[in-house]
Formats: sequence, structure tokens, C-alpha cells
Amino acid sequence: MNKADSERMAGILEAMGYSEATEELDADLVLYNTCTIRDNAEQKVYSYLGRQAQRKRNNPNLTLVVAGCVAQQEGESLLRRVPELDLVMGPQHANRLETLLRQVHSGQQVVATEEHHILEDITTARRDSTICGWVNVIYGCNERCTYCVVPSVRGQEQSRLPAAIRLEMEGLAAQGYREITLLGQNIDAYGRDLPGITPEGRREHTLTDLLHHVHDVQGIERIRFATSHPRYFTERLIEACADLPKLCEHFHIPFQSGDNDVLKAMARGYTIERYRRIIDRIRERMPDASLSADVIVGFPGETDAQYRRTLDLIEEIGFDQVNTAAYSPRPNTPAASWTNQLSEEVKVARLKEINALVERCARERNARYAGRTEEVLAEGVNPKDPSQLMGRTRTNRLTFFAAMAADGQRFRPGDLVNVRIDAVRSFSLSGTPLSEQN
Ligand code: SAH
Ligand code: SF4
Repeated sequence: MNKADSERMAGILEAMGYSEATEELDADLVLYNTCTIRDNAEQKVYSYLGRQAQRKRNNPNLTLVVAGCVAQQEGESLLRRVPELDLVMGPQHANRLETLLRQVHSGQQVVATEEHHILEDITTARRDSTICGWVNVIYGCNERCTYCVVPSVRGQEQSRLPAAIRLEMEGLAAQGYREITLLGQNIDAYGRDLPGITPEGRREHTLTDLLHHVHDVQGIERIRFATSHPRYFTERLIEACADLPKLCEHFHIPFQSGDNDVLKAMARGYTIERYRRIIDRIRERMPDASLSADVIVGFPGETDAQYRRTLDLIEEIGFDQVNTAAYSPRPNTPAASWTNQLSEEVKVARLKEINALVERCARERNARYAGRTEEVLAEGVNPKDPSQLMGRTRTNRLTFFAAMAADGQRFRPGDLVNVRIDAVRSFSLSGTPLSEQN
């Protein structure tokens, strides 16, 4: 989500006539798009800012901007801490970058952190990939997970209209994009802030309806979405994913903890039994689907036995990938003020142990690909070996393969290529290209 915001802001800067500087310390304008999900992400910006503030003292024409979630969280106090800053802007203001910079260039120091209705973006994002694009479908989050800073920095849920989402996808298809990932913090909440009830009495706008609405955009070959929330994940959604051919068989469904009491303290709104049922149902309909998740270890009060239940669940389900994090207390969140915090030592030890387990599970899951032929969407050249292309399987496995097949046929980014998998590692695959499909 943060990267998608960066691409939108880069697009606005480009439309204003800026071009990319080769050196961070040479640029006339420096914009840091920040993340505050954990403390170590937040601290990074302060060290970068220190160097730029120093530069600004000798070069008053330098424009210095902090955008994103740290900007939203700190607001005015960021200006007190770094008085050299010109602009502090929260994530809801990303589309307003041009207006805000005009205010700066008329001599003001600007803080834009008020709750804001996100207008449809009329500028074009400057995207890193020419093949795979992100499309926001819902901004913000109305959940109140007790550890999480997102609702306070990204604000209330705001869904985009299906027609606007489809139009953006059509525009991307026309530029040659082949894969779209639909984005939302809690994408299953899509549409609950939009009006409309169907004749059968259900909400007119849901993620499932959106997937049906955008599925036939010509030129787009693959559709993904993230992030799913087990509280709202529906049977209808699983059916849609199984039935719609462009929907990829990969599900990212964070479960956060394998213990029901910890889940309750986190205010996640589901039990492990419900989570298991979702996974069972996905596997019934799509036996080869890949599964990934996020978990937190060392949540306040987490006992050793509770932590072991998280390990057991990872082992039992056999995830393809799990993003792990040690709990980090965040400003303005309930769990940060609880007195049952665990020591850094315990958190770090749990993180280390769980990471080893995650790697082993990923390797075991990847083993199933050996000898199989997988459809890979070539995304670009392998930066470590220019004779190779890299891309992903439908199940989201990073795969490397020779850009030229045995018969001399050349493949390019954007091609869907059948690759016979010869080597499996924990987090990637390598193989031999067989034939171009289209
Ligand atoms: N909306 C998504 C994820 C949002 S944040 C969801 O509900 O799952 C991405 C991940 O960061 C979370 O899934 C969680 O595992 C982790 N995270 C969030 N707050 C955290 C905190 N205070 N400490 C450690 N990890 C955290
Ligand atoms: Fe944070 Fe929970 Fe919202 Fe995810 S669903 S962004 S974890 S509050």
C-alpha cells in the first residue's frame, strides 16, 4: 500500500516536470514516504531526515517533505523536531501533492493531516513495474485491532466505485499491464461504505461483486487481491476465486496468533476454528492454492504455551510463506499501554525460532513444484543474471528461467511462459522455459 502511494506521488511529481535525481543528496526536492507499522520502520525516517536537514541549512532552495503514516502520526510535532521541513502530509493527502507543493512554493510551511475524502486521482502513477500494477480499491480501516496503528493513521474506510476501479484497470491494460493486485488494508470490507442493496436483500457492493465486475478487462491475464481478513472472508469469495479463471490461487490471510485468548485480546473477531474452516474450504475448492499469512509474536501477555500454538498452526497448515513480526508498541493503540509487556529478549528469541520454522515450511511446500510445469508471467530481467527472466507462478512463487528456449525462441517481460521447474529453494524456483502461450 505504501509503495502504491509512492508511485502515485512520483507520478504527480513527474507530471509537474520533476525528474528523478541520481543521488539522494543532490535532489532539489526530497520526499520520504514513511511507514509506522512498527517502531523500527518509524525510526528510519529520522536518520534520513537528519542528513537532509543539514543540507537544507546550506541550500535553502531544497524542498523537504515527509509523507505517509509517520507524517500523519506526528503531524505538527514533526515540524518542531525538524524545523527545516516544508511539508508534512498524511497518506489521505497523497493525491493532493501538487496543491500542497504550490502552497510550499508560495512560502508556507504546510501540515496536511486532517481527515480527508480521497478524491479520484486524475494523474497517472509512475509505476516501477510495466507488467504488474497495484490498484487501490478501499482506503483506510475501520477495525480496531488493539496492536495496530493503521486505523489512526489511514483513517476511515473509503471504497472507490467499481466503475472507477475498472476504468483504471482498462487504462493499465491499454499500457501493456498483464497483472493487477487489488489493494485494501482490509479488502473484505470493500463496499460496506457504499450505498445499495440487491433485490435479495444483500449489500450491492462487495469484494466478490467487484471481482466479477472487473474480471473481463481485456489484456489483464491475472488478478490478485490483498489483504484478506478472516473475520469477513466469505464462502462466496472462495467460490468466485475458484470459478473466475484470472483470479490467482494465492491467498494472503493473516491470522496473527494461533491462540484464541490472544486473538481475543487483539480484538481480531474470529477464532482459530473459523480460520481453519476457511483454509479447509479453500483447499477443498483449490487443492493447490498457496497460502500466506502475517503473525505477531510477543504480544502483551503471550505465554509460552500460547506462542507454541502459533508454531503448531503454522506447522499444521503448511503455509507457503509467513511474514513474522515481534510485537512493537505503537502510539495511540490500546495494547501499548497494557502492563503485561514482554521483554525484548523473549520477543527476539520467539521471532528467531518462528522464522526458522517458517523457512522450513516454505521449503517443504516449495518441494511440490519440482519437475512440474508452471505458468510464469515474465516480469523483468533477473538483475543478477541478464540471460534470465524472472516472474511469478499463479501461486505467487518467484521463478527464474532462461530468456531463450532451447529452440532459440526469445521471451520478453509480459509473456506468459510455461516453465519446467528444475530447482526449488525456500523462497524461489528456477526452471527451463518450454513454449510461449500467447
Ligand atoms: N490489514 C492487514 C495488515 C496490516 S499491517 C491485516 O489486518 O492483517 C501488516 C502486518 O503488520 C499485520 O498483519 C501485523 O502482522 C503486523 N503488525 C501490525 N501492527 C503491529 C505491531 N504493533 N507490532 C508488530 N507487528 C504489527
Ligand atoms: Fe490494522 Fe486490524 Fe485494520 Fe489490519 S484489520 S489494518 S491489523 S486494524
